[in-house]
Amino acid sequence: MGAHISIPMYQRSVSQRYRLVGHKCKHCGRVNFPPKAVCKYCLKGSEFEEVVLSGRGTVYSYTVIAGGGAPPEFAEEARCKGKYPVAIVELEEGPRMIAQLVNLPEAGIEIGMKVEAVFRRIYQEEGVIRYGFKFKPL
Ligand SMILES: [Zn+2]
Repeated sequence: MGAHISIPMYQRSVSQRYRLVGHKCKHCGRVNFPPKAVCKYCLKGSEFEEVVLSGRGTVYSYTVIAGGGAPPEFAEEARCKGKYPVAIVELEEGPRMIAQLVNLPEAGIEIGMKVEAVFRRIYQEEGVIRYGFKFKPL
């Protein structure tokens, strides 16, 4: 196992994991996600307004992770399924996030495919089921 996320650390991040909330920079107006202390776009803004993200976006890039290369959060899933697709999704509001893709069509994944966030079980550790977002085609 690699990185361990303890229960208290997990609980502190629940609001980020359970709601897609971005931080709109009051300096440049771009949306940071996940939240940053200083805006990653203009490197000047440090005051933000919370914005609830739509959860809709497009596939910017993707890869298929095979069992051996799985990060610890996904190791259990890799054991069950062998391999699974992970994409960089560009959200409508601008930020990009990395997430698993689910419910894919037979034709597979396409760059530019419209997707929508769905709330799913990610993995279990210390008897606690950890949830987060995956994306499914729209
Ligand atoms: Zn900014």
